[in-house]
Amino acid sequence: MIRKSRALGQLMALLKTPGPSGGESAVARLVKEQLVGFGCRKAWIRHDKAHEKIGEGYEVGNLIARLPGTVKAPRLLFSAHMDTVPLCRGAVPVRRGNRIVPRGKTALGGDNRTAVGCLLTMAETILSKRIPHPPLTLLFTVGEEVGLKGARQVKPAELGKPVMGFNYDGGDPASVTIGATGADRWSVEIRGVSSHAGVHPEDGVSATLIASRAITAIAAKGFFGAVKKGRKTGTSNIGPVQGGEATNQVTDLMVLRGECRSHDPAFLDRITEAYLAEFEKAAASVRNTAGECGSVKFTSSRDYHSFEMERDARVVLRTEEKIRDLGLTPLLKIANGGLDANWLNRKGIPTVTLGAGQHNAHTLKEYVDIEEYLGGCDLALSLATAD
Ligand SMILES: [Zn+2]
Repeated sequence: MIRKSRALGQLMALLKTPGPSGGESAVARLVKEQLVGFGCRKAWIRHDKAHEKIGEGYEVGNLIARLPGTVKAPRLLFSAHMDTVPLCRGAVPVRRGNRIVPRGKTALGGDNRTAVGCLLTMAETILSKRIPHPPLTLLFTVGEEVGLKGARQVKPAELGKPVMGFNYDGGDPASVTIGATGADRWSVEIRGVSSHAGVHPEDGVSATLIASRAITAIAAKGFFGAVKKGRKTGTSNIGPVQGGEATNQVTDLMVLRGECRSHDPAFLDRITEAYLAEFEKAAASVRNTAGECGSVKFTSSRDYHSFEMERDARVVLRTEEKIRDLGLTPLLKIANGGLDANWLNRKGIPTVTLGAGQHNAHTLKEYVDIEEYLGGCDLALSLATAD
């Protein structure tokens, strides 16, 4: 039903358009032009105010297109994030056999332009062939790659209260992600006492020593990297570590930032609490001759919440049925990364995540599998068509 050449042309145009997190306006413009070209009324299309909430110089909010239905049925949501990771800067897509690859040393942006292309192809096919369809909402989010920032700001009422959602952000069109991990982001400020490192090091309290003791203890207790305690699992990582001004001065300030993840919210709390406890313990353990010790200010927040849908949820069953209609075998999965679907589910819209041919995302080896992309487009069309 879809026109393959149109679907591919759409994707190439999207891959050529830059759109880093926060700088999605050019992609959004292209999407709007295309939708209007297919016959979407301008009044159906709008941006929400997510960018005002996010701040940080975000150019635009999430782009929302609400198509009225031609049959009476509950509204369905289709979503795709517009932003790409910094490694995609300057990407030039080229076709090589049954793949699309980047020409130079960049990533490609198949994550997630395959999804955007998929939604556009679905909309064009439905509108140009006048295929009967329920009311449809297309949601193109901003800032997904930097912590699901656009999806976090979505207001279900602005989406027209869809009863279920299909989020596109993956490879294999037969795989259905029905759950994803939750994550905390934390930062710690370690305060020590400065002194002359050569003349009176004993008067100092080294923030560097506190940080090292804390990290060593966290790892020794099994809370660093891959975390496994009985049947509970999770991960944690320390990212930027900053501090110190001079070699001859005992370091009095270190700032560390990191993250923890788990599918189990209580276990996620436990991992993050282990970090807090060890930083505090380490701060108390480093003392100078005056008996002073270090101190820490640890802050953490839940970046996004984990979810896992029932295998017999209506949206899961409908998706599996449509995948089988395409002659494929559905495969249910749980993801270890956050997805826009984390927030959509949290906001009461049961949402699965589907694939449209992106592979090796966030690497120089990124590519799009053209067959899978077209399969993703077929599935989107089938899901959006009235039964
Ligand atoms: Zn993505």
